[in-house]
Amino acid sequence: MLFLMNHEEIRIGSSVIKIVRGDITQERADAIVNATNASLRPGGGVCGAIHTAGGPAVTEDCRRVMADREPLVPGEAIATVAGDLKARYVIHALGPVWHGGEQGEPEALASAYRTSIETADKLGLQSVAFPSISTGIYGYPLMAAAHVALRALRLALERAHSVREVRVVLFDADAYEIWLGAAR
Ligand code: ADP
Repeated sequence: MLFLMNHEEIRIGSSVIKIVRGDITQERADAIVNATNASLRPGGGVCGAIHTAGGPAVTEDCRRVMADREPLVPGEAIATVAGDLKARYVIHALGPVWHGGEQGEPEALASAYRTSIETADKLGLQSVAFPSISTGIYGYPLMAAAHVALRALRLALERAHSVREVRVVLFDADAYEIWLGAAR
């Protein structure tokens, strides 16, 4: 069952999705999710910020992980160490580039959220912080992305064993307001 507790909290059984405004690089959570690129390089946007805040340990672990595998396809996620971040792990999730919505973008975006929760669950983690995946450089419209993400998060939390708390951390006021609207 899903109902809204207040302006920024959605309860799902004993779990919760919180919608907050802030900088994800400052989050204290068992894992923070990175909106990465296919090769897990530092890049720009939230990804660049996470690599900078996490320090060389994060970038090094990305290189190690990618050394013996193919680039990620949209919807995949991989965990690495979190370096200097206030988290135990970074889960690097690849969202889709927006091409108008008819090329599997919603499915890939839902998969990025679901796979991140599944990855955290396999590690036995309780709390996971997400940015708004794909809605920056990748151009996914915010309202549509928030609806897809919230549905995927709710379904994933219903199935999770250890993950109990998800925080969606919105950097700017517009994104925060749009996510609140989607939650309502
Ligand atoms: P993508 O390539 O998946 O679109 P971006 O990094 O371009 O990823 O943007 C994803 C979202 O993350 C955007 O809404 C952007 O405003 C937001 N963002 C950027 N920096 C931060 C940060 N430090 N904390 C949280 N969100 C951030």
